[in-house]
Amino acid sequence: MRIRASLGTLAALGMSRVRVAAETTTAYLLQAQEAGCLGSCTFCPQSRVSQSSKELLSRVEWPEVELEELARRLAADPGPIRRVCLQTVMSEGFEEGALEILSTLREAGVGLPISVAITPVEESLLELFRVLGVTHIGVGLDAATPELVEKVGKPFSWGEYWDFTERVVRVFGPRRALVHLIFGLGETEEEFIRAMAWAYRVKADVALFAFTPVPGTPMASNPPPDLGAYRRMQAARHLLSRGASLDEVLERLRKGELRPPPEATVTSGCPWCNRPFYNERPSGPIYNFPSLEMALSAKGEGI
Ligand code: SF4
Repeated sequence: MRIRASLGTLAALGMSRVRVAAETTTAYLLQAQEAGCLGSCTFCPQSRVSQSSKELLSRVEWPEVELEELARRLAADPGPIRRVCLQTVMSEGFEEGALEILSTLREAGVGLPISVAITPVEESLLELFRVLGVTHIGVGLDAATPELVEKVGKPFSWGEYWDFTERVVRVFGPRRALVHLIFGLGETEEEFIRAMAWAYRVKADVALFAFTPVPGTPMASNPPPDLGAYRRMQAARHLLSRGASLDEVLERLRKGELRPPPEATVTSGCPWCNRPFYNERPSGPIYNFPSLEMALSAKGEGI
């Protein structure tokens, strides 16, 4: 079976000779679909309204490889890798396809915890994922307000994503639903903070992304977010994830007191998810640092 894997993942497993500026600690896999996704998100190169190469997700290249070989290597010597993340692509039969990928990893002896990033699905499918070694689910909400969910062409409604988040928390437990939120799609800072607070209120967690314009997508000419504003969102997430109330965080925003400690600028998401240079060129500006060491050594980059 063919699958796409991020170039950094292939480098970590010795399947590509490309030199990387930071090692990935998660193996990122992407369902291979010739025609791309049935969804029409205007920022995503995988969507059917995009003219981009289907080798791209955000700014990262995802070459196709044999799943069986990748699974064999991952089982034999995972190197720096501590987790597997399967990014699903909506198409006919994609749920069965995801189960087949998970079973293949299992049969090859891959014992790492697994995350699946997916659009809303039934609870029965989540139960099957759990049996096959999945510990966390990435919820592809992306947009921070109901209006933006419609405007950027998300395939489900605001309410459906949140119902799904609660379903994931029921099956996997607190903080095991990672709500993916992209800053810079057209929301205000306050709206973004409110969406993050909602995630923590329903016992989920937030994986923070910076909007990245990708050539060939309808949003290719929109600018990436201001780095200072992104740092404020990282500071807000940091506080909310440690129990701060929404009012307290909004008060700090109004007073200009949202500044992130270095650890808050490290990539957020499932344990060991570091997505090196998913949102940025290695030359910067760096929105999400793939390690604390990099965050500490880059003092001054908007911190
Ligand atoms: S937070 Fe990272 S590992 Fe978790 S689902 Fe999202 S991309 Fe995958």
